[in-house]
Order: sequence, then structure tokens, then C-alpha cells
Amino acid sequence: MESINSGNCWDRKNELLSREEIEGMQAHKLSSLIERCSESRYYKEMFKRKGITPDRIKTTKDIKRIDFIDKSILREETSWRFLAVKGEHVVRMHSSSGTTGQATVVFHTKGDIEEWAELIARCMYMVGVRRQDVFQNMMGYGLFTGGLGFHYGAERLGCMVIPSGAGNSKRQISLMREFGTTTIHIIPSYALRLQSVFEELNIDPEKDLKLTTAFIGAEPHSERLREKLENALGVDAYNSYGLSEMCGPGVAFECRGKAGMHLWEDKYIMEIIDPKTLEPMPDGEEGELVLTSLNREAMPLIRYRTHDLTRIVKGDCVCGRKHRRIERIKGRTDDMFIIKGVNIFPMQVERVLLKTVGVGSNYQIILHRKGSADNMKVKVEVSDEMWRGDLEDLKRLKIRLESEMRDEILVKPELELVEPGLIDTGEGKAKRVIDERDGAILE
Ligand code: ADP
Ligand code: ZN
Repeated sequence: MESINSGNCWDRKNELLSREEIEGMQAHKLSSLIERCSESRYYKEMFKRKGITPDRIKTTKDIKRIDFIDKSILREETSWRFLAVKGEHVVRMHSSSGTTGQATVVFHTKGDIEEWAELIARCMYMVGVRRQDVFQNMMGYGLFTGGLGFHYGAERLGCMVIPSGAGNSKRQISLMREFGTTTIHIIPSYALRLQSVFEELNIDPEKDLKLTTAFIGAEPHSERLREKLENALGVDAYNSYGLSEMCGPGVAFECRGKAGMHLWEDKYIMEIIDPKTLEPMPDGEEGELVLTSLNREAMPLIRYRTHDLTRIVKGDCVCGRKHRRIERIKGRTDDMFIIKGVNIFPMQVERVLLKTVGVGSNYQIILHRKGSADNMKVKVEVSDEMWRGDLEDLKRLKIRLESEMRDEILVKPELELVEPGLIDTGEGKAKRVIDERDGAILE
């Protein structure tokens, strides 16, 4: 395993800060953050109401005096009210994907874009990507931050970038072959789809391609899914976390230790709170991630509730970096659904499915009402081999999955096995849950 001296640091000074240095740096940056925020109409009013001035926010504990915000507040207030620079300094806007409702707009200055590129270069370099690499960015370009964010980061690092964008699997594969792609960035559910296209075309990625590294992120996925992709594509796959309100990807990223994502604490302050009481959770306990952007210029946000559930990984990382790690995101608080009194996250279903031989690439959960009871149906694609094989094997697979699902989530779902390629999860973030119950919150 790599050690501090292994040369995998792009920004050695900031990556290898000690805990004391990180905490000192965060405290040091607070007064300038408050000053910058005061330039926005929203914070100006809030600070006035609460009597907050730069000299009164000296430690990270002091920011607890500032109210949380979240997507609903950004939507209600509109992003303009959070703009902390003159319009002429804004060079770009992006927006969130709109996974949970109306997309939120985020503004960037030249400095924001520069820092973002640096941060992505840091993340990529950390796992061994170098300027000799050929990087194929299979994320949607445009308003979505996953595309352009990584694009600029990889260029900063010096890779040759293939801006292929999302979708069109056969073209993606021919680009990989023609230009010797070594590194890809891809949404995990789409990567599963791509894997089945490799099978269809009879391509063995390990033999026929030069892939070594994949960055997967933008949506929750299980460790099983990572393993499946690593085996199928012959790559090391690293989890990449970010959100448009904090710039985009680059907020937290796995190192080669693959044991949680380092959240870059020289750029962000993190808190983990109980989403119901809003009180801090003890270290290592699961809760909602709350982030404060320390350096952003156009639209700095303080105590932004991500609604993403995770926990802090305890202990030191093998790589020697002291930026604390967060566990892979379990889901958003609003991804959770309740069936027969049991709280369930799609990732729990995924864990069972992907460890079972015969299961194919994709799945979808459908919630519906039968009489007065809520029911859950899981539609699962099976592998090509299984689909073409014996009917008895299919029946056995169904029974096995139902019983394993009951063991994992304590509810026995209705299971429907379908042919490979039948479930369309799209090219962007997969829609894993379809809620057909009346008055349902999830669509
Ligand atoms: P939206 O919030 O509308 O989906 P974004 O494109 O800003 O728009 O996506 C950010 C969100 O995507 C995060 O808050 C999180 O829910 C999810 N996300 C991003 N990266 C990951 C990841 N590696 N694992 C799980 N979820 C992720
Ligand atoms: Zn590490």
C-alpha cells in the first residue's frame, strides 16, 4: 500500500496537513468566509438578524450559530440571493441534476473554476493517474457538474481527455480501442450497462483494452457493485463524491486504500448531524453530512445540509493523509421508503442482488398498494446465460433472491426476473425507485 512518501500527492502541502494544521487552517479561513458571505443578500440579512460579524466567528464551533440551509431554501430564495460577488465576476453557472425536484443553480467565478480543477487533479493523481494517461469522460457534459468538473481537472493534470459524454455505448467502446483509454469516469449504473455491451460485442476489456482506473460516483452504489465492475472491466474503481452546491465532484474521494473517501478539509468543513434533531452525531455514527465551503467565491454556502447519509471512518488511513474519511453514501434521507413498517434503502436491495450469481446488470424497485397494504416489487435483469438457460434455474434464482432479500431487509418482496437490457435506467443517475402509491412522495 502507498505511504506518504510514495509520491502520490499532487498538492503535497495541503494533502499532508496534520490534524492541527487542518483545524488551524479552517479557523483561519472563517472570518474571510463570513466577510465574503456578507456580500450576498441572503447572508447579509441573516447575519444582521443574528448579530453575526466576522470577528465573532473564530472557531469551527462558532459556525453552529449560523442556521442550516438546504436545497429547499436555495429553491425558495433563488440562487441569486446567495451570490456573493458582482455579476460581472461570474464566469459560469451549473445546476444540480434535479434528482429530488427542481434543479438548483450554482454560480462560479474564475477562481472557483481554477480551484475546482486543482481539486479534481489532486483526486485523480492520488490514485495514480498521470499525464501519460488517456482519460475518457463518460459523464453528461453541460449543466451537470460531473462532465466539465472532471474535464478541467484531467486537463490540469495533463491527461489527454476524450470528452465522450454519456451514452452511445458502442461508440464509447470504439473510442477506448482506438485511443487506448486508460482511465474512465462513469456513473455506476451506466457502467453496468456498458459491461453488458462488452459481453454482447465479445470484448474482453482486460485483454482487448488498456483500462486501469475507473472513477465512479454521482449516485449511491454498493461495495458489491464496485467489485463487479472491477472484475468485469479489469480496473481499480474509486468512489468519487460531490454535489453541485459545493462545486461538484471533488469534495470527497477515495485513495488507493479504498476504505472511505477523504473529505478535503482544507476546502470544506464537515459536520454529521442527526437529520431529525439536527444535533451533532458522535464520531463514527451514521447521520446526515453537512458542508461549509471555505474558499468558494461566487456562492459560498455555510452549513449546507446535503441530506446524504454517511458516517466518519474512524482511525488513520493507510495513505497517511489526515483529512477525515467518510463511508460510502448510504443514500439520501429521502431515498428511504417504508414497507410494512421497515425502513429500506435501495442500496440494501442492491447488495443482495449483486452478490448473487445469475443476476444481470440492472434492477428497479416498484412500490405499489395492494388493498390497504404497501407492497414492494423488485424487477431484476438476469444474466444472458441465465435467460437462455433452464426455466428451473430461473425459478430457483427467484426463490433464492426472495429469501435472501427477506434476511437482509426483513421484508419479502415480490420478485420479477426479466431479460437482460429490459430495464432502462437512462444515461444519467439511475432512477432506482418508482413509487406508484397514491400520494407518494417519491415518483
Ligand atoms: P442532485 O442533488 O439533483 O442529484 P447533483 O448533481 O449536485 O444534483 O448531485 C449531488 C448528489 O449526488 C449528492 O448530494 C449525492 O446524493 C449524490 N452523489 C454524488 N456522488 C455520490 C457518490 N459517490 N455516492 C453516492 N451518492 C453520490
Ligand atoms: Zn487514504
